[in-house]
Amino acid sequence: MTTPEEAPASSSAKRVNIRIFATVFVGLVCISILALHIFFSWSVRNKDVDDAQVATANLSRALAEHAEATLTSADSVLFGIVQRLEVEGNDREALARLYPLLASYVKELPQLQGLFIYDQTGKWLVNSLDDSPWMLNNADREYFIFHMTHTDRNAHIGVPVKSRSTGDWIIPVSRRINRPDGSFAGVALATVPVAYFLKFYTSLDTGKKGEILLASQAGIMLAEHPLQVDSIGKNISNGNLVSEHARRNKRGVAMIQSSRDGLLRIYSYKRLEKYPLFVTAGVSYDEVLAGWRTETLLQSIGVLILVAMLAWLGKRLVDQIKLRAQAQQKLLSAREKLVEMNKALQKMALEDSLTGVANRRQFDVTLANEFNRAKRESQPLALLMIDVDHFKKYNDTYGHPAGDVCLQKIGKVIQMNRPGDLSARYGGEEFAILLPNTDLRGAIVVAEKICADVRNLNIPHGKNPTGIVTISVGVQSIVPNKNCNLMDLVSASDKALYTAKARGRDQVCSSDDEIPPACGP
Ligand code: GH3
Ligand code: MG
Ligand code: MG
Repeated sequence: MTTPEEAPASSSAKRVNIRIFATVFVGLVCISILALHIFFSWSVRNKDVDDAQVATANLSRALAEHAEATLTSADSVLFGIVQRLEVEGNDREALARLYPLLASYVKELPQLQGLFIYDQTGKWLVNSLDDSPWMLNNADREYFIFHMTHTDRNAHIGVPVKSRSTGDWIIPVSRRINRPDGSFAGVALATVPVAYFLKFYTSLDTGKKGEILLASQAGIMLAEHPLQVDSIGKNISNGNLVSEHARRNKRGVAMIQSSRDGLLRIYSYKRLEKYPLFVTAGVSYDEVLAGWRTETLLQSIGVLILVAMLAWLGKRLVDQIKLRAQAQQKLLSAREKLVEMNKALQKMALEDSLTGVANRRQFDVTLANEFNRAKRESQPLALLMIDVDHFKKYNDTYGHPAGDVCLQKIGKVIQMNRPGDLSARYGGEEFAILLPNTDLRGAIVVAEKICADVRNLNIPHGKNPTGIVTISVGVQSIVPNKNCNLMDLVSASDKALYTAKARGRDQVCSSDDEIPPACGP
């Protein structure tokens, strides 16, 4: 069972628990919302990056197919021309017949800038631009030297060069021409304009900071979008993209910081099937995530506002709990104060303020109760009536304040130790002591002792023949029955007191002394 002292303690502990619970709950809700927001935002970001990787992979596949088709068509033309030259030879008539064919190929195929035939010394024999012989020599070109020194009959993709005929950047696609005995007879060349690739690349959407390039396996740049100054023919083999990825794998996706502009891009690269070339498509990482960043920023602002509102409401809730707890605490302490004040009032109502013994009201109530109880139980009830001797003279001699102090000292002397006994101030300098279950003999013993104790106080009293303050005591003890009431007991004790006064004071007299018993049998 809970004691009254334990109850407030346990309820205040409960209130503290509720506050902690509310704080933790609101905190957990806020943290969960933030964690979920971060988790979902991160998932969306990863998905955007994945989507960009798939898109660039598709783009690089399309670029590779385009490059493959372009070069294959140029090479098919070359293959036919080489076959014809090797069969018909390269005399003046054969070359004259060849010119219109070359010119019509170039006219029909936009991926061809020109077709050229060189003899074994590099001299221009015929080309698609003009049927009159050109006094130029291409023996110094990389592709010419390659075929002169290699018997390989496959197509050769050369290093991009600026065309001697038009001044445009071209990618040379060439084949070796053999004599019947297999010796070197010259080179057939198809030039693919870099602009052809650029036109296609420009039509593709890779964002504002995207990048497309076509390069040889050796790392020589063939075409690039957007086109940078002096980038065609440049060696980019040292770049991460080529050295770490495109050279090693047939295809792949990589996140690389561009060595050219320092931008981080998602690159997808693919090697061509038939030619030693590769293409790459790159999109800016920033651009890929731009939409996600804006969306996440807006969502984050919303989530933060929500969390702030929740935290604010949670704090209000906790504050309310705290205020309620404080109000309850105040109520409790007010109640405790009230109880204390009630006790003080009760004390004031029952106690004599000067001497500290019971007052007349308490005496009257206790006398009635004890009288009835004694009557019920047929037990004796004794009453001592005490009066200070010559007290008027004491006051007159020593003053009222000294009289008060004297009464206080006597009040202390007459205090009883036995439970149930009651000492009271009856009025003025008169006291009464109620002794339940005490017969006359016992009451006289108590009275004599009190008389002696007052004497022993040795309070000087010049107007008392004894020279000190003394008291007179009247004693009566009765076993109440139906023939008597409590006033009989009071008047019997009072009469005994008068007897004590009449006999010279400073003594105890009982109802047996000259006065007949209060109640007859
Ligand atoms: P006796 O021996 O016959 O009792 O003479 P007495 O002078 O004591 O009797 P009396 O009844 O004539 O005087 C009682 C005095 O007690 C009168 C009053 O001034 C004084 N007294 C009563 N109450 C108080 C009190 O509270 N304080 C003080 N100082 N004196 C009190
Ligand atoms: Mg008196
Ligand atoms: Mg008196």
